[in-house]
Amino acid sequence: MLKLSIFLFAALSFVMAQAQSTGDVKKLDSALTLLYKTNRFNGTILYAEKGKVVYKKAFGIVDFRTNQPLQTTSAFNLASVTKQFICMSILMLKERGQLQLDDDCKKYIPELPYDSISIRNLMTHTSGIPEYFDVFQKYKSPLDTLTNEKLIQLYSLQKPALDFATGTKWNYCNTNYLLLVSIIERISKMPMAVFLQKNITVPLGLKDTYMYHVLMPVVPANHVYGFEELGDKRKLNDLTQFDGVTGDGNIYSSVEDLYTWEQSLYTEKLVKKSTLDEAFHPVKLKDGTTYPYGFGWGIEKDRPGEYAHTGGWGGFANLIYRDTKNQRTIIELSSGSSGWGIRTARNFIQGKQLDIPPTVLIKNVKLMDGTGIPARNEQVRIQGKIIIAVGQLQPFESEVIIDGKGKILAPGFIDSHSHLAGYLSKYPEALAALNQGITTIVAGQDGGSDPVDSIKAELKRIPSAINVATYTGHASIREKIMGADQLNRPATKEELEKIKLLLRDDLQKGSLGLSTGLEYEEGFYSNRNEVIELAKVTAAEKGRYISHIRSEDINMADAIDEIIQIGREAKLPVQISHIKIALKDDWGTAANLLAALITARSEGIDITADCYPYDFWNSTLRVLFPKKDFTSLDAATYATEHLFDPEGSVMVRFAADTVYKGKTVAAIAKLRNETTAKTLLYLVAASADYQKRHPDEGGVETIMGKSMSDEDVMSFLAWGHTNICSDGTNGGHPRGYGSFTRVLSRYVKDKKIMTWEDAIHKMTALAAEHTGIKNRGVIAAGYYADLVLIDPETVKDNSNIQNPKALSDGILQVWVNGGLVYKDKKSLQKYPGEFISK
Ligand SMILES: [Zn+2]
Repeated sequence: MLKLSIFLFAALSFVMAQAQSTGDVKKLDSALTLLYKTNRFNGTILYAEKGKVVYKKAFGIVDFRTNQPLQTTSAFNLASVTKQFICMSILMLKERGQLQLDDDCKKYIPELPYDSISIRNLMTHTSGIPEYFDVFQKYKSPLDTLTNEKLIQLYSLQKPALDFATGTKWNYCNTNYLLLVSIIERISKMPMAVFLQKNITVPLGLKDTYMYHVLMPVVPANHVYGFEELGDKRKLNDLTQFDGVTGDGNIYSSVEDLYTWEQSLYTEKLVKKSTLDEAFHPVKLKDGTTYPYGFGWGIEKDRPGEYAHTGGWGGFANLIYRDTKNQRTIIELSSGSSGWGIRTARNFIQGKQLDIPPTVLIKNVKLMDGTGIPARNEQVRIQGKIIIAVGQLQPFESEVIIDGKGKILAPGFIDSHSHLAGYLSKYPEALAALNQGITTIVAGQDGGSDPVDSIKAELKRIPSAINVATYTGHASIREKIMGADQLNRPATKEELEKIKLLLRDDLQKGSLGLSTGLEYEEGFYSNRNEVIELAKVTAAEKGRYISHIRSEDINMADAIDEIIQIGREAKLPVQISHIKIALKDDWGTAANLLAALITARSEGIDITADCYPYDFWNSTLRVLFPKKDFTSLDAATYATEHLFDPEGSVMVRFAADTVYKGKTVAAIAKLRNETTAKTLLYLVAASADYQKRHPDEGGVETIMGKSMSDEDVMSFLAWGHTNICSDGTNGGHPRGYGSFTRVLSRYVKDKKIMTWEDAIHKMTALAAEHTGIKNRGVIAAGYYADLVLIDPETVKDNSNIQNPKALSDGILQVWVNGGLVYKDKKSLQKYPGEFISK
């Protein structure tokens, strides 16, 4: 045991020695150079060991409008690194006997509407006072610029409640430091800017350090302007209406000055060692526990003697980090919207790897970004999983470049209604999805789902090429509580409460919402009240409702009324799964149904639909019996005449007698020498009997039922609130492999019922919006790099009933989370798919 720990210690000190050798500074320099050259770092850096500066350098510009180069003396807004100067000022007043750290703030700010908050509580973020950003936003007038004194007036007038009892918690809050500045100003009877100058900057000889806010008349000359990036363009992102205040930020300084400041903390130039000591001790909470934060300094976890603070505010990202054990310091100040400077500086001083992910530029594409706006010629830059820029981008030196050869680049498609998830363990390459451009599937449909936990665990066990999100299936949680043989009735009150708990749990773990399959027997016998109650639980968790409605044929009007009522009463977005008109008598009336949905929308109900581009469905024979009277010849006759076309409907699976597999119902009737109605009764009865004998076998019969008109399908596809789905699995119905490419080839190119941009929108951003999936479905900076490159000339679905797994043409390349997963009709055996939580 002893031997082992000596060995460990030796190994550890070796790593530390490595990190401290100046050789590593070269690594730091090349990392920062790469970041600078790829627009991920604009700033200054200083690294010192044992009182000696080993490395300092400035990369970039002071102001993107003038291109004046940065220097190591350029002064950046320190943002929250300001806080350590405020705490030092307080400690100086304490040493002079002008205050005590445990003084009640009211002693200096009697207007404060809170009792028993000490100065120490403010310094350590344990006061419980709420963040001023929210309070100011709520009560400000549009012309106001906030100042520290105005803030005190606002709090004394509005008396916003404490977030928690003082001293019981640590919660980072800028208001604390605004109040500290007011205390300093009231005691010293001078503005904070003057106090800082007299007591800190002049005594330490700091030349580039000062307080600056928007109400000051003169803008200091060496002041760096904050900015943000939009593509290759830069936009000013500097001080705002908030910046009449000081304390939480708005001290400006350079890396050179900050180093002098940091070194002074080893001396007694400003305060005695014993006074300063407490600044680097974790704060004690009322329950006796501690939090690793001192006075304007964070205490690094498991790294004794190491302290740091970051600062981020409107276009600035800074870090000061001191390792007092080895007397090492790193200071990084940057402007821009990237956090790479902070990350790299921290990793360097902590002896960690400095891997900077390369960027990839996709150029020469017709960009359809998913929003529906016209295609444009722009480039897309990816870093890791994320799109970091879109626009007129010039390639960086040594950047990976992908030439799109003028083809369409779109966001990866999002399939809002998929049954593929159950096949991913066996087929993680997910060709069914990728060959048609799908990068995200939404599982848990029609009332049937696996728990979020098990989906996550399975994806961890066998990673998949595509992303998976899920709804929580009504029938699945019903069955868990009521038992499989008790689903032929509504849930009792007690059962419903238990179902609610299961639902809430799954929603909190990341399910998108509640799905129902009310036409199927597992859900059919629930009543409206049961579903509405569950929808309310879903709404409370900000989830959505998606439904295979109770009837797609004879009782459709009722079923539509039900989903609208659910949206109205539970107040949540509702979506009709695979919208269709499956009753022959009603063919051609899509406009009436859409009118009903538009009326509901005008009432404020967020009702939407998804749709697959085929006029035949894939389901069980039992849906052909809307009253569940499976032995009635009348019902069977009605079904053959009104609900499906026996000539065009094929048995895809028929376990009871595989001879009939692949034949139409009419052909089977001919073989059996009976009417199609009688054959239908036989097929249902034989399957029920087979199922009884093979209780563990799932899906003993499946029919592809021809029951829709192409005109209705087109009306539904074209509706502005319909997104595209597949409702597919790994084979079976051709929709499993061809839905999205079929929309592009048949309905965009041949029938021209919508534009390319519209179709892409319906496959991406609209589907994301309808399912509550965030940061996907659009090609824009900050979104996940799920992408598909499409050849508009050749794109075409090839799957059909005879060959349901034929791959589509024209899907050239597919990326999931930044990784190329599919190219030239082949899986690249890469599995970057993730579980997507609500
Ligand atoms: Zn369905």
